[in-house]
Amino acid sequence: MKIHEYQAKELLATYKVQVQPGLVAYSPSQAVDIANKVTHEGPWVVKAQVHAGGRGKAGGVKFCKTTQEVKEAAEKMMSKPLVTHQTGPDGVDVTKLLVVKAVDIAHELYCALVLDRKTSSIVIMASREGGMEIEEVAEKTPDKIFKICVDPAMGHSAYQSRILAYDLGLPKELHAQFETMIQGMTKLFIEKDCSLVEINPLAITTDNQLMALDAKVTIDDNALFRHFDIKELFDPSQEDPIDLEAAKWNLNYIHLDGNIGCMVNGAGLAMATMDMIKMAGGEPANFLDVGGGASSDMVREAFKILISDKKVKGIFVNIFGGIMKCDVLAKGIVEAVTQVGLKIPLVVRLEGTNVEQGRKLLNDSKLNIFATSDMGEAATLIVKKVME
Ligand code: ADP
Ligand code: MG
Repeated sequence: MKIHEYQAKELLATYKVQVQPGLVAYSPSQAVDIANKVTHEGPWVVKAQVHAGGRGKAGGVKFCKTTQEVKEAAEKMMSKPLVTHQTGPDGVDVTKLLVVKAVDIAHELYCALVLDRKTSSIVIMASREGGMEIEEVAEKTPDKIFKICVDPAMGHSAYQSRILAYDLGLPKELHAQFETMIQGMTKLFIEKDCSLVEINPLAITTDNQLMALDAKVTIDDNALFRHFDIKELFDPSQEDPIDLEAAKWNLNYIHLDGNIGCMVNGAGLAMATMDMIKMAGGEPANFLDVGGGASSDMVREAFKILISDKKVKGIFVNIFGGIMKCDVLAKGIVEAVTQVGLKIPLVVRLEGTNVEQGRKLLNDSKLNIFATSDMGEAATLIVKKVME
């Protein structure tokens, strides 16, 4: 789960990482009130709060000298979706802004913690070349990024951050601050089951302080059950409404770019189905695993989700009734098609428990459904239908 910069900074502050106090505004006039609250005199920085990086280059971070400029920047940011290289072409709506005092920056460093599955350890990465060009640094001059592995069972030791401080060429008077910060970031990473803790830029200010000017924290979804405080930080406005609906019904849904909607039970069969569609010359519009024991309610809702995607020109239901019974599935499909109507072709491949009852339900419904028991034949048929 991703959280916003302001939330990440609040978390980091509780782990003794230096951040700037800032408040969140929900409107341009509130942004001005907050600007006056955080400091009597500018300049300020107004920052769009979205779950994507690359805001600076896309107009989502604005330096403002006066409160009038704060107001104008806020109005502009909130007026349209923000499109960065991480958002996709539609961008994301900006409903929250962080307003902070502008810091006098002497240098921008980069510092991040990620999980290295190969070595089963946490990797601390740091570079002198922080700021908005870090992707380019990683690609063209990866030797400028220093790395240290931390065993999650042992936690961080002071000597590790000292090595990094020397690698980065930090002045001696900043070593203690750097160590406290790395220790805090590592503790946060371990205690909150993070998959990413990133500070970029980590500024060295002109008065020789280390300060996190941006922060990204991602928490492993599988660990959310033991972090109620973090779960509360979830912001549904940053998610695709279709993904939210799918999660509500416990459906495993991933949106893709093709035009054939797939409904399958079991991840392996779902992958095989997508392969078969591709082999037949088509493109799947999604991965959707309704799970082994789906109810007819879940099947109905899954169906509605597929239809709600305007790019879907045909639907392929591929179910092997093992735990799930074919008649339960057929009932769900008939209910869904009757409720929402269906103007696009639907091919159903059914096999397994109660397959005869299932086929009978589909046939008796008099709905325009092509039912078959052969998977290859079904894939070829749906591809042919969407191309007609
Ligand atoms: P993003 O990573 O999404 O582009 P950042 O928060 O890193 O957004 O901001 C982009 C750039 O804006 C930073 O690299 C820094 O130069 C500048 N910046 C951000 N916050 C401040 C601040 N409080 N004071 C001064 N400059 C800032
Ligand atoms: Mg940044």
